[in-house]
Amino acid sequence: MDLGLQGRWALVCAASKGLGRGCAEALVAEGCHVVITARGAEALAATAADLRRLNPAVQVLAVAGDIATPEGRAAALAACPQVDILINNAGGPPPGDFRDWDRETWLAALDANMLAPIAMIKATVDGMAERGFGRVLNITSGAVKAPIDVLGLSNGARSGLTGFVAGLARQPALASRNVTLNNLLPGAFDTERLHKTLAAGGAKSGQSASEFAAKRRAAIPAQRFGTAAEFGAVCAMLCSAQAGYLTGQNLLLDGGAYPGVF
Ligand code: NAP
Repeated sequence: MDLGLQGRWALVCAASKGLGRGCAEALVAEGCHVVITARGAEALAATAADLRRLNPAVQVLAVAGDIATPEGRAAALAACPQVDILINNAGGPPPGDFRDWDRETWLAALDANMLAPIAMIKATVDGMAERGFGRVLNITSGAVKAPIDVLGLSNGARSGLTGFVAGLARQPALASRNVTLNNLLPGAFDTERLHKTLAAGGAKSGQSASEFAAKRRAAIPAQRFGTAAEFGAVCAMLCSAQAGYLTGQNLLLDGGAYPGVF
């Protein structure tokens, strides 16, 4: 199926590695021009070079910066001639015990995982509505549906974003103009972040990272971790021309790990 994305401009935040990179790869393969961001300039430049090889017909621009800061967001937006597709993403907050978190800790999590995506949405959706096409996808977490105790900062910040997006997506000024806003909720995906989490979980429970990973895999009905390519493919599908009637949704990609019906 032709997803109708040829020549669209996508701004993919936090995309030098992992799930963001998977989204950028899928969009580039579908013929989108992309602006990708990350804080580390070297890995970002290497990813940009890989994307250009993947599809030499599209433009790939790399903007190094922290998307959680006003400067990082301004630089990313300035580089993108027009944002047709916005993929909001940033690193997740650290695990811990809420008794140890002060106001500054909370504000850092809210900045990265709630206020930054809201600022990016604010800067882009009205232009999308004027042009009659827009796709916003926020990479959140399966923890929005099934909160994880040690990830309180993530549970809180991402739930705030989820509530905000649910209201905004239903504004007729956007929905009637072919602007959709949805959230993608990853379960366990084979990325650098997951490897760090598995190593930390193993160390805490006196197991090796590979023992801990094997138990984690066994608890997932699919019996494996997801891949960034699978995540990117679903992202491209939700950004497609055909997905214009799909808005305000939270789509869980977790190999069946979440046990509920809804
Ligand atoms: P990852 O493999 O660690 O990749 C994170 C990417 O984001 C890197 O390119 C990183 O580059 C960039 N980044 C991080 N913070 C940034 C910032 N403030 N500004 C700009 N770029 C930033 O992580 P991932 O597994 O893809 O996870 C992506 C998101 O999904 C995270 O929020 C994570 O919590 C969430 N998630 C992941 C999983 C999973 O299983 N993988 C599950 C649930 C939720 P730099 O470090 O160079 O900036």
